[in-house]
Amino acid sequence: MSLTLTVDGDRWRRHLCSVAEANPGLVPVAKGNGYGFTVGRLARRAQWLHDQGLGGDTLAVGTYDELPHAAQRFHGDLLVLTPWRPFGSALETDPALAPRLVHTVGRVSDLADLLARQPDARFVLERVTSMLRHGLSARDLWTAARMLHDHPRARLEGIALHLPLAQGTHLSEVQRLMNDVVAAELPEGGTGATTVWVSHLTHGELDRLRAAYPDFTIRPRIGTDLWLGDRGALRVTSTVLDVHPVERGDVFGYRSRTAPKSGHILVVTGGTAHGIGLEAPTGGSSLRARAATLARGSLDAAGFVRSPFSIDGKQRLFAEPPHMQASMLFLPHGAHVPAIGDEIDVRVRFTTTAFDRVLVS
Ligand SMILES: *Cc1c(COP(=O)(O)O)cnc(C)c1O
Repeated sequence: MSLTLTVDGDRWRRHLCSVAEANPGLVPVAKGNGYGFTVGRLARRAQWLHDQGLGGDTLAVGTYDELPHAAQRFHGDLLVLTPWRPFGSALETDPALAPRLVHTVGRVSDLADLLARQPDARFVLERVTSMLRHGLSARDLWTAARMLHDHPRARLEGIALHLPLAQGTHLSEVQRLMNDVVAAELPEGGTGATTVWVSHLTHGELDRLRAAYPDFTIRPRIGTDLWLGDRGALRVTSTVLDVHPVERGDVFGYRSRTAPKSGHILVVTGGTAHGIGLEAPTGGSSLRARAATLARGSLDAAGFVRSPFSIDGKQRLFAEPPHMQASMLFLPHGAHVPAIGDEIDVRVRFTTTAFDRVLVS
């Protein structure tokens, strides 16, 4: 009775190992819904990678609230990607975790505040990028470096750069940011002054960066390409719970719509609680791509919207908007009618889907 993610375990684990082998210093990212797997499962898997001698000493989580899901399952350091602020859940972490925690600091005032509370805190300094999400300007980075010279117990673990998803190359931007890092004259001592944590660089970009800055350690933070990089290892299925033959004019659904023609109403597992939306996810994410999908007829003549559920390789129509845990589909006369209990394929966005079951073979 579930929306199920079935994972071909051998293939998935092979993929994880190959990504870890290709990315020395890898920092796996486990955040949000755990890319569909849950943060807890990914934390355990990151520990497994570490036990294979692959993948790093550090796991990144998104928020302080996610730490309890990861801390018992992964035994290394825990980098929190959301910047530390002097309020909220950042101040409520388990003190026993403090030695393993690496904070992200994005404002000079936060650095002062954090070190006043915990003089030996571990942290990365985030340099703002063209994403304009969080972080220090070049000048702030320089100021932060001056402050650190007065805080000998502070444990700088590196500089963090969060780059936009590639539209062309990142190299010229990264080069400019690296110049700021070098110019900041961060206190030497640990390895923090020469470690840079990055996201969204290609292998080619990472290689060129390493060649250009041989004294630096470059640590790629990777989520999507690690956990979801081999889609062929992942299958999402829903179960057919009920099948009702209908004639044109028969009434169905919460809104008492009438069937536009003869066919079948199917009730299948998966609804809004799982993140099943009214609009089918499309490959292209641009506005134009979505407009084109609409124009191509994801709405049929009767006003039905295309669903992410497919039967016989064809995406089927919602008979009405998805319910909390189930969806009603309309299958026109002539199509192969699945039996109650059959599984059908579903196309989902993994980062917004809550599966009832994740089965890893
Ligand atoms: C989510 C996140 C990542 C990982 O992004 P993916 O696209 O899933 O690889 C890396 N760095 C930061 C700061 C993030 O928030």
